[in-house]
Amino acid sequence: SPALTRAASLIREIPDYPEPGILFRDITPLLADAEALRVTTEALMEPFLGTFDVVAGIEARGFILAGAAAISAGVGLVPIRKAGKLPRPAASVDYALEYGTATIEMHDDLPRGTRMLLIDDVLATGGTLAAGRHLVETLGHTVAGVSVLFEIEGLGGREIVGDLHTVFHS
Ligand code: 5GP
Repeated sequence: SPALTRAASLIREIPDYPEPGILFRDITPLLADAEALRVTTEALMEPFLGTFDVVAGIEARGFILAGAAAISAGVGLVPIRKAGKLPRPAASVDYALEYGTATIEMHDDLPRGTRMLLIDDVLATGGTLAAGRHLVETLGHTVAGVSVLFEIEGLGGREIVGDLHTVFHS
């Protein structure tokens, strides 16, 4: 749609951030635009409407989109956070970064089998969302879908996450 094409044009490319050789996709101009935020939030959820009980957002930019999506879908929000930020983590999953490792955690305040739609802003290597999927499944919940605003292609992310919905891609 024209509104989505316009929204795509609001993703800014920042060369050499946060390190030399990285082309960073900055979504803040898109977030600042009311229509772009609305249409992309709807596009993130569109294939999954009626199939999820909550939205799970991945720290930190995933929280922004997941919050908008949850309100729009009329469901609650579960934060998936970096290690050490949640007071009562029920499970942790470690995953590889380009240099080193990271850990994400989640509370477990919902019944087993809760259907969760996982949302993040950008998919690169897929490590973050694959870990998010693993975390949700470790706690006995169901991944209704994995959805990202922007997929960086050619890094193998789609292959390791599986069953991925993207609004925009490189
Ligand atoms: P991955 O684990 O797929 O390699 O990296 C994805 C995570 O890193 C996401 O949580 C995402 O927010 C962040 N990320 C990686 N590259 C970019 C980028 O170019 N732009 C933005 N906004 N986030 C990125």
